[in-house]
Amino acid sequence: QGVAIAERAYQQALAFAQERKQGTALDAPKGAPMSPIIVHPDIRRMLMEMRAKTQAARTLSLLLAALLDRSHREPDEARRKAAAERAAIITPIAKAYATDIGVEVASTGVQVHGGMGYVEETGAAQHLRDARIATIYEGTNGIQAIDLVLRKLPLSNGDAVKALIGEMRGVVAAVREANTPGFGHSAARLGAAVDSLERATEWMLATMGIDQASALAGATPYLKLFALAQGGTGLAKKALAMQGEDQGAAALATARFYAEHHVGEATALELAVTEGAGAVEDSTAVFAA
Ligand SMILES: Cc1cc2nc3c(=O)[nH]c(=O)nc-3n(C[C@H](O)[C@H](O)[C@H](O)COP(=O)(O)OP(=O)(O)OC[C@H]3O[C@@H](n4cnc5c(N)ncnc54)[C@H](O)[C@@H]3O)c2cc1C
Repeated sequence: QGVAIAERAYQQALAFAQERKQGTALDAPKGAPMSPIIVHPDIRRMLMEMRAKTQAARTLSLLLAALLDRSHREPDEARRKAAAERAAIITPIAKAYATDIGVEVASTGVQVHGGMGYVEETGAAQHLRDARIATIYEGTNGIQAIDLVLRKLPLSNGDAVKALIGEMRGVVAAVREANTPGFGHSAARLGAAVDSLERATEWMLATMGIDQASALAGATPYLKLFALAQGGTGLAKKALAMQGEDQGAAALATARFYAEHHVGEATALELAVTEGAGAVEDSTAVFAA
């Protein structure tokens, strides 16, 4: 539902931006007529944000679907078990991230529409209302994060998560080796995010047994960090696979945008996990007042 609403909001915002005229392009001659707003850098940034987040959430959802298939259909029992463990880990991440993205993308869609987004005629605000429930039902996203940390992270003593992190590292290495200028700073951003996820995972595994309150204070930022690293490497993997194809350049630009504009948040999320529990604990002083 999160991916579907986000996709609808993106398509609608894109169509609006191609039609709505306001201001003139930066390189337009003096006296030129107004330009469609899609020429403005901030509008292009918002549309790319919508597209990249939607596609990252879709890669997570499709990864989960493939893992669930493999957990039933792999001929080898050990491989079925490994796929089932991975599916168990990705389930709360895909649910929470895709539905959070539904809200964020629908909200950006309202912004692209300007004042027309806030009033009812365009339908942009309806997407935002429709998306909002998905973060709450089918297990609130806060509960999904707790499920990830307390029940999924310990699977096979943390080895199942570590294997996923290892595969993310493989994608980062492939991006680096491809040496494709269109990837921009993707390898550095993705590499740093996977490093952050690895350190945050080690902190979680070491902390959850001795200080559950601190681990749970960081559960939601940990889930988002995981989603950024998994989604970012997923988009990069797709861009690598599509090189030379019709939509290859668009896939590359989308993967690069996600890595350069969003994956950098991983550094802050790691610190919120590993150093942020004290601030949550200190909130006692706030709520007691
Ligand atoms: C439109 C709509 C349709 C629905 N459809 C269905 C349906 O078809 N079937 C069905 O079974 N249910 C349905 N629900 C119910 C929905 O699943 C619940 O609203 C949802 O699970 C949250 O439960 P709650 O509303 O009791 O919130 P609460 O459990 O009171 O949660 C409030 C807040 O506290 C947090 N919280 C709660 N416990 C903890 C904890 N231990 N640690 C940390 N944080 C916690 C939550 O994450 C949330 O942020 C629907 C709800 C709506 C609004």
